[in-house]
Amino acid sequence: MSVAEISRPARGSNSTTQQTMLETAATTRLLESEGILDYSGHVSTRIPGREAFVIQIGSTSRAEVSPDSMLVVDYDGNVLEGDGQPPSELPIHLEILRARPDVQSVLHSHMELAIAFTMMEGVKLLPMRARASRWKSGIPIDPDPSHIKLPEQGRALARTLGPHHAVLMRAHGLCLVAESAQALFVDAVHFKENATAQMQALQAGAKPIPLTEAEIAQIEKMEMREWHIKKLWNYYVRKALDEEALPQAWRDELVPTKEMLKRDRTL
Ligand SMILES: [Zn+2]
Repeated sequence: MSVAEISRPARGSNSTTQQTMLETAATTRLLESEGILDYSGHVSTRIPGREAFVIQIGSTSRAEVSPDSMLVVDYDGNVLEGDGQPPSELPIHLEILRARPDVQSVLHSHMELAIAFTMMEGVKLLPMRARASRWKSGIPIDPDPSHIKLPEQGRALARTLGPHHAVLMRAHGLCLVAESAQALFVDAVHFKENATAQMQALQAGAKPIPLTEAEIAQIEKMEMREWHIKKLWNYYVRKALDEEALPQAWRDELVPTKEMLKRDRTL
């Protein structure tokens, strides 16, 4: 799904860049509101029609990111637009976006719950909840526990991610990848729900019972990913606007119209 399918149509490449900045800034703030980002972590999104992506200035608070604090960066890591330095872990985004042409948006987070699953012997994070069918192909763990600041570290991380939609980073964090910033946000919400469910089972002293392949196949028959993303985006954007975690001036650009929220099918 493209950015434009949820958002208002952009006019020209400058508007496309602005819209990508706005949606990436909103996604960052929503992730911070939901406890998935805090003082660190970041989101990058490709700019449709340009050989470049947007990412925030590294020092800007994740709760206050706006289009003014976003940078336009090319795939060699050069800052083309904006006044500031990208996050020091830029190689995460550069190398994943280079390696995965199917990916439009990348999240890097230091989510504690995800980190815990890189530090337990004999325990793997598995699809427990229905929405975790997204990660049915597996959630690999990258063995490098340091911050990813070198191109070769980023390339190694991208190799560990491979064709999957999530990668854990030992004692450090995780990355998720998706087809849009909105999809990335919704995936992150479900990733946290799923990790919470497995941790609750472990904390109860029980052996977790993950989804079986047959159950995942059944879940996927009912899947309406595009509509589901719009529904959750609508919920979280409206909630954040009401709670003033997002500026009111962004409302018209971010809230889906009634027409956008119509389901075209039930199955
Ligand atoms: Zn990090």
